[in-house]
Amino acid sequence: MNRHFNQQERDLIKLAGFFKNQSIKLMEKGMLGEEHKTVQEAVDRFLEHMDSHVNTRAFILDQHEYLNKLVKDNARCPKCLSSEKLKVIGTDKNEKGWKSNRYKCRKCNIEFTWNLPNNPWHMIEYIQEMLIQMRAKVDDTSTAEDARVEALETIDNMESNLNKLKPVIDAHDREYRELQARESEMERLMHEFKNSLTIEKIKMDTWDNRQKLKHNK
Ligand SMILES: [Zn+2]
Repeated sequence: MNRHFNQQERDLIKLAGFFKNQSIKLMEKGMLGEEHKTVQEAVDRFLEHMDSHVNTRAFILDQHEYLNKLVKDNARCPKCLSSEKLKVIGTDKNEKGWKSNRYKCRKCNIEFTWNLPNNPWHMIEYIQEMLIQMRAKVDDTSTAEDARVEALETIDNMESNLNKLKPVIDAHDREYRELQARESEMERLMHEFKNSLTIEKIKMDTWDNRQKLKHNK
């Protein structure tokens, strides 16, 4: 069975498998007509659809995990200014809701939160905000000339980072949102499929029992 199935999906696959075996048996005994084959084909088609859905889902969730870990800090201890004895001990949220990594320096025995977001979503917001500040600095007539040149360079770098990062994240976010929509649609379809399987199964059982009763008479 596909390892990406969740419990609900696994249960449904089992039910469908049971249904299929049962109908094959009945068909072999001649108790179900050829027309029942179309029901079986519909079951197979649905199972294939489920299979491809969960594979896509696994792929997008993997990508989400990967992107979530995309931002690599070059954190340094504020006391010894080294990164050698740092250990990530958790995450912290600032007042804007941006998540950052929290570190412990084992040399200085202090804990601190790194001042940059630890994920691309918050990093994009951070860069956008920094750009606004930097542009204001450039526009400010009281800014010294070398500070202005420095700010312009920073703007260039930040814009180029943003132009690389944002399209990737935007494309993923779109796929992720579409996945959520397909997930709810799939849940509805699974519910319907389960109901119709149950009805078919009751029909088959009734048939089977009736035949047994006839034989016993
Ligand atoms: Zn330190």
